[in-house]
Amino acid sequence: MKKHKLMVANRSEIACRVFQAAFEMGIPTLAIFVKGDEDARHLTLADEIAEVEGYLDVESILSVAKGRGVTLIHPGYGFLSERPHFAKAVIDAGIGFLGPLPETMEALGGKIAAKEIAEKLSIPTVPWAKLDMAKSSDAELKAAADRVGFPILIKAHAGGGGKGMRRVEAFSELKMQAESAAREALSSFGDGTLFFERYLQNPRHIEVQIFGDGKGRGVHLYERECSLQRRHQKVWEEAPAPNLPETVRSGLFESALKLVEYTKYRSAGTVEFLVEVLPDGSIKEFFFIEMNTRLQVEHPVTEAITGIDLVHEQIRLATGFDSYRLPDVVPPRGHAIEVRVCAEDPSQDFIPCTGTIDHLIFPSGPGIRVDRGIEVGQRLGTQFDSLCAKLIVHSSTRDLAVKKMQYVLRETVISGVGSNLGYLSAISHNPNVAQGRVSTLFLDQSFKDFHPNATMDAILLSEAFEKSEVFREPGTQGASGEPGSPSSWNSSTLWEQVKL
Ligand code: ADP
Repeated sequence: MKKHKLMVANRSEIACRVFQAAFEMGIPTLAIFVKGDEDARHLTLADEIAEVEGYLDVESILSVAKGRGVTLIHPGYGFLSERPHFAKAVIDAGIGFLGPLPETMEALGGKIAAKEIAEKLSIPTVPWAKLDMAKSSDAELKAAADRVGFPILIKAHAGGGGKGMRRVEAFSELKMQAESAAREALSSFGDGTLFFERYLQNPRHIEVQIFGDGKGRGVHLYERECSLQRRHQKVWEEAPAPNLPETVRSGLFESALKLVEYTKYRSAGTVEFLVEVLPDGSIKEFFFIEMNTRLQVEHPVTEAITGIDLVHEQIRLATGFDSYRLPDVVPPRGHAIEVRVCAEDPSQDFIPCTGTIDHLIFPSGPGIRVDRGIEVGQRLGTQFDSLCAKLIVHSSTRDLAVKKMQYVLRETVISGVGSNLGYLSAISHNPNVAQGRVSTLFLDQSFKDFHPNATMDAILLSEAFEKSEVFREPGTQGASGEPGSPSSWNSSTLWEQVKL
């Protein structure tokens, strides 16, 4: 059998996660780093390390890969993971790319092209229209807006990470907003192409994990709910999606598999949908929005409920393409939740925090997984994404998983650098979150004025309140009439007790 060596063209927690899989499969590994990133944790987990000019520098990465005898490259997520020219350069260098073919990325990676394929396959898409700001007359703009309907979301074809979207309420603002969005898209993504999409008023974001064998066969590995977002960026993800009618669920799976089969998709991918929630909480319809042609940040929740290691599958497929058999997919088991721990300050509009990590405590126990890219002594600056760890829990039921997440967040300590742990903890105690009744707007609306200390005080008080009978003032009921509502407590006494 051919001897392999695996490079991760990435850093932080995703590099660490892939190195673990390679280690388990007996494959030696090579980590890369750039100047200033020498103390990153991912470098301690690989067999070899090598400096490159940049995490986006294809030439430098490939020259190291060739020089060190690398046979497999995993792109992780972000950076070069969805750039067809990188996948092509890797394959042209005779190295296995742990992801889809460049042609598939080309076809599905662009939001417009992917919508066109979806429509061809009769997969529902949000009403949308293509736009060429340089060529469109006012009348064409008006016709496009009429087809889509207000409110309109202007999106950048090459956008990502929730960036480059603008909501427009009326035709009078449309042209000006579109012109400025095109300029912004050009400078941020190198491509000013835009499109209009109907803005859904209260959607849920639900996505389907798929895995294709590259020969036209594929499996879906169930759905993930990713509606808890801050400014369109995911914060808390779970599998399966709570309160989802089976008819909607099976429609999502069927649509996702159509894309896999049509494109002969190879490796892991995610098909993203928005599900429109009506005021009474029921679900009207679902719409395809885009496909991510890579391993997703939130893949661990899928691994938890299916027992399938997605990186193992990617490696098995790349190293034995002809004889590869798709994994047997069993019914989902239990419920899993992931939160994204970021070095950012919720009390200052989530600005990135910097500093040197001096202390780290992560809990362990049944159903707890920590994927982290940070280590004590590591300096965090602002040059990279603020995501530093993911906390994942798995329990037999959703209620228990939420409780486990509350515990994990309470027991996690990161010091030396600020983090969003307090924010995540407050989310884990929210009653709507507990019931799984949220939409993509929920966090921006309900946690708009989040203040970490005040919120944590309230949580601790209510936890103690739930736990204890001894603090109830004799003969009283709460003001609400509920036994022991917070108004019946002497909070200073309680606070002392909580600290014990
Ligand atoms: P990106 O690629 O930048 O992540 P997406 O198209 O995946 O952008 O959308 C990210 C998030 O933005 C969605 O999960 C949802 O919260 C919101 N969003 C996207 N499209 C719409 C829409 N048409 N209506 C309402 N919200 C939307």
